Amino acid sequence: MTTLSKLPAPLLAWYGAGHRSLPWRQEVSPYRTWVSEIMLQQTRVAAVIPYFERFMAALPTVEALAAVDEPTLLSLWQGLGYYNRARNLRLAAKKIVGFHGGQFPHTYEEIRMLPGVGDYTAGAIASIAFSLPTPAVDGNVLRVVARLTDCHDNVLAPATRRRVTEELAAVIPHDHPGDFNQALMELGATVCLPNTEPKCAECPCRGFCQGFAHGTAASLPVREKKEGRRKEEKTVFILRSGEYEAVRYRGEEGLLASLWEYPNVAGTLTESEAAAQLTAWNVTPHKWVKKAKSKHIFTHIQWIMKGVYLEVSEAAGDFHWFTAEEINTQAALPTAFRQFWDLEETQHV
Ligand code: SF4
Repeated sequence: MTTLSKLPAPLLAWYGAGHRSLPWRQEVSPYRTWVSEIMLQQTRVAAVIPYFERFMAALPTVEALAAVDEPTLLSLWQGLGYYNRARNLRLAAKKIVGFHGGQFPHTYEEIRMLPGVGDYTAGAIASIAFSLPTPAVDGNVLRVVARLTDCHDNVLAPATRRRVTEELAAVIPHDHPGDFNQALMELGATVCLPNTEPKCAECPCRGFCQGFAHGTAASLPVREKKEGRRKEEKTVFILRSGEYEAVRYRGEEGLLASLWEYPNVAGTLTESEAAAQLTAWNVTPHKWVKKAKSKHIFTHIQWIMKGVYLEVSEAAGDFHWFTAEEINTQAALPTAFRQFWDLEETQHV
């Protein structure tokens, strides 16, 4: 008997005895499972819950999602980050309505073909919403399996992920595949924790866990170092004229496409360079309010940002001038810029 073949019974018993009550688990449908899994990509459960509930209230069906306009869609996603997830949701909804007659596809292969759906998400939807015995292997599951089997292979290598997927496919219970996948995710999220000591004393798998038996669990999984992110410096201008702030549209292409931003330029400008930039924009400041520093991390890039807060005499320049309320409803301002609302003044930027 392999270590993983011992997993289903105690794991399902533990999950059945009590697990987190999450809105997408209370009422299961392919649509709700799909939207929740897309939101949960790269995002913590606690952060997703209010977004999920708001999204479902506004767009309760796949037809409603297919028909929504992009500004409304992005405003529902505002603050959640990785906005291509929202765009792919809508693209996929159009495909489901136009190509599948509004019926959510119900084979792993068809689900995997939807925009924005990868192996993990397809496995999760197929197992949770359609009871198909498909593993759902993400970083959490790779960590738990590496510890359970005391495996020191690099979990970032595609070959390791393929092998773990095959091993789980051989043991996933065909009568409860969705519960099995969710139980494994739950174990990784609440007991076999990342970046810290796992809570082995509370774990239903402790009796056969090889990482626990050999004292190696906390050092697993092995992850080869990723290449560092490219750093880009920016100076961001928060220009206020009365209750209005200057924003501009970022355009249809590239990073944060179709979103809005505060006016900004590459590099960390000195005060005189910033003044020259304002002149170039035909903007006349009458008060330099404060400066602040911030950073924002994307998948491959890190922005190091200096924020310059100014009051200007008139709403001039080639910008849109919106109130805070109008920014909230008409201009999806991503977190990279929105965070400047909350920053304290710093002297050394
Ligand atoms: Fe993780 Fe510890 Fe459970 Fe093993 S016994 S699966 S290391 S929590």
